[in-house]
Amino acid sequence: MPQIITNTNDLHIVSKPLPPEEFERVKGQLFGFLWSVEGQHAAGIASVQLGEPVSAFAFWRKPDNDPPFLEFVANPEILERVDAQYKSYEGCMSIPGVRCLVPRYPQLTIRYEGSQDLSVCEDRTWVIYDEDARVFQHEFDHTQGILITDVGIVVPKNIGRNDQCPCRSGRKWKKCCGRDI
Ligand SMILES: [Zn+2]
Ligand SMILES: [Zn+2]
Repeated sequence: MPQIITNTNDLHIVSKPLPPEEFERVKGQLFGFLWSVEGQHAAGIASVQLGEPVSAFAFWRKPDNDPPFLEFVANPEILERVDAQYKSYEGCMSIPGVRCLVPRYPQLTIRYEGSQDLSVCEDRTWVIYDEDARVFQHEFDHTQGILITDVGIVVPKNIGRNDQCPCRSGRKWKKCCGRDI
C-alpha cells in the first residue's frame, strides 16, 4: 500500500494530465487506498497524495436517493461555481491533526473522465451539490497543488468562544468566523 505524502513541497506540485491508458492502474491505487482507510471516514484521496502528481482522485459520492459509491475522477475541470461560498470544517490525510475552516461553493458544474457512473452523459458533465461539491473542490484543489491550509484558516481544537479569531481579524471567534459554526 502506498504511503500517504505529508511533505508540503511535494503536495504543492501541480498535477499533469493523466493519459487514458493509465486510468485503470491509478484508479486501482486510489480505490485500494480508500478501502484500506475505510474506518477513518476518508472522503477522498488525490493521486498527488500517493506520490504521483497526475490529475486524478477518488471520492465517495453521496447521491440523495442512492447509496454512496466510490467514484474515480481523471482530468477534472470545474466549469461553473454557483452561489455564495460557505465555510465548513475540513481535514486532510496529508495534514494530520489539523482542521481548517474552508470556504467552498455549494454547487458546481464539473466535467471529468474515467467515471463508471451510469448516469454519465455524452459530454461527461455533471452538476453536484453540498457535501459532494465540497469534497470535489478539496480533491480538485489537490490536483492544482492547493491545500486546505492555503485556502482556509487553521482552527485550534480547543478554541474558546471569546478567543481571538484565528483569521486575524482582531475580533472574537464567536463574533467572527466561529459565528455560524
Ligand atoms: Zn486532502
Ligand atoms: Zn474570523
